[in-house]
This record gives sequence, structure tokens and C-alpha cells, in this order.
Amino acid sequence: MLILGGTSEATALAQALARRGDVAATLSFAGRTVSMPAQPLPVRVGGFGGVEGLARYLVTEGVDILVDATHPFATQMSAQAREAAQRVGRLMVQVSRPAWQPQPGDVWREVATMEEAAAAIGAAPRRVFLTIGSLQLAAFAAAPQHFYLVRTIDAVAAHGLAQASFITARGPFDVEAEARLMREHRIEVLVTKNSGAAAAAAKLEAARSLGVPVVMVRRPADDGAAKTVEAALAAIDAHRAGVPRGV
Ligand code: NAP
Repeated sequence: MLILGGTSEATALAQALARRGDVAATLSFAGRTVSMPAQPLPVRVGGFGGVEGLARYLVTEGVDILVDATHPFATQMSAQAREAAQRVGRLMVQVSRPAWQPQPGDVWREVATMEEAAAAIGAAPRRVFLTIGSLQLAAFAAAPQHFYLVRTIDAVAAHGLAQASFITARGPFDVEAEARLMREHRIEVLVTKNSGAAAAAAKLEAARSLGVPVVMVRRPADDGAAKTVEAALAAIDAHRAGVPRGV
């Protein structure tokens, strides 16, 4: 089995499989982050070289179940995984977390892209907590009137932001600490992707308690439905028992 990872769901599935010990599985990472926590299964790092490369890997490594447990915003990898599995006739199973839903007291402005998110902050200068990762920071260079507090896992190399402070941290985060951070930096707007990650949800609770509005970047082409680790394990077991069933 090959698990395309980079999420806590992938790690949870890897832990469940490692505990069972009845499946030879490898966990795959793109290699975007420098600091990587220890993993319960053998790991490989780096791209496969598109659909072609992944299809070849599935055949040469004898993989018969491909699990796409990538982040909801990793759409390229998911599309390539679907195509490669289909091309070489392997079972493809998906694991994903449900999207966050606004709760009473939340003030969300939902947008489709980072460019829309930058515009949605508004014309007046604001102090913004930016928790969108490091790859799309350039979109906010178009709104230089704002101050940005940028939190990423690894240090940011290039960004193009006129007024910004940078912090590095890896979740899970705690609601009290998130509220303290937002108060300390006098944050007026939170910008985030709708990852749905439990480890990252504390900032939403903190924003709610402080009355801080949220610019929420919607998931690209996703029904938002959870495809749980348990459902993936059931599909894997059914497949191994000779009953083909994708998730
Ligand atoms: P992406 O745009 O969908 O994928 C870009 C390329 O990165 C893919 O074509 C593939 O290269 C390689 N790749 C992606 N995931 C891989 C994996 N698990 N193993 C091996 N190669 C992989 O992905 P992304 O948005 O840059 O995300 C990269 C990774 O970070 C993903 O594994 C994802 O789960 C994780 N992540 C993403 C986000 C996010 O907001 N996008 C947040 C947290 C974690 P080849 O074409 O060469 O195979």
C-alpha cells in the first residue's frame, strides 16, 4: 500500500496500519516542510514525476492499494493519484476530513481564491493573522495597506509583503494561546484555508471569542464530505477479502 500523506489523517491511518502489522505500507511526502515528525511506517519523500511517474511507481513497487490522504488543497496530487490508479488498475481509497462549518457567533467571509481573500480584507488598513502556509503569500502583496502576522511551519524565504511579522509553529494549537497571540498582535482579521484540521481549529474558536472576523478560503472542488480513516480501513479490508470497493 502507498499512502499519499502530509496530513494528520494520513498519520492516523499509518498508525492504525502499523498497530495491525498485516499490511506492507509506505507513507509518501512531497517534502515541502523541512521539519517532519517521526512516522510509524517507512517513508519516501519527493514527487513521483506526474501521473506517468506515479503509475510506474505503483507497478514497480508492487503497490495494489493507493490511499490519497493528502490535504484538501493538494488538488494536483489527488487528480494525478486518481488517474494513475485508474491507468494501472489499482484500488484508490480517499481519506479526508470534513470542512469546518461556521458556528453561532462566527463572522465568516467565504472566498474561492487567495486573491479574493486579499481583496476581502477591505480597503482600510487592518492587522491580519495569515495562516495559509507559505506558498501563496504573494497574493497579499496586492493589499500592502495591511499588517500581516504570518504563521508557517518552516521559516518563509520570499513573500513580497510590505508590513509583516513571521512566526513558525506546528499545531496542534490551544485556544487560550491562540487568543493570547491574537490579542498581543491586535489582530482584526484572520485569514485561513478551510482545511478542517482539528489541530488547527483553535484559531477559529479564539477568533469567535474575540469577535475577530474570518476570511475563509473555500476548498477547491470538494464535496466537503469526510472520508474517514475507519472507512478507508473497511475498504482496504474488503479489497483484500476480494470484494473491490473504493471510497
Ligand atoms: P499539490 O499541488 O497537489 O501537488 C504538487 C506536486 O507535489 C504533485 O504533483 C507531486 O509531484 C508532489 N506531491 C504532492 N503531494 C505528494 C505526496 N504526498 N507524496 C509525493 N509527492 C507529492 O500539493 P501541495 O498543495 O503542494 O501539497 C504538498 C503536500 O503538502 C501534500 O502532500 C499535502 O498533503 C501537504 N499539505 C498541503 C497543504 C496545502 O494547503 N496545500 C497543507 C498541508 C499539507 P509529482 O507530480 O512530481 O508526483
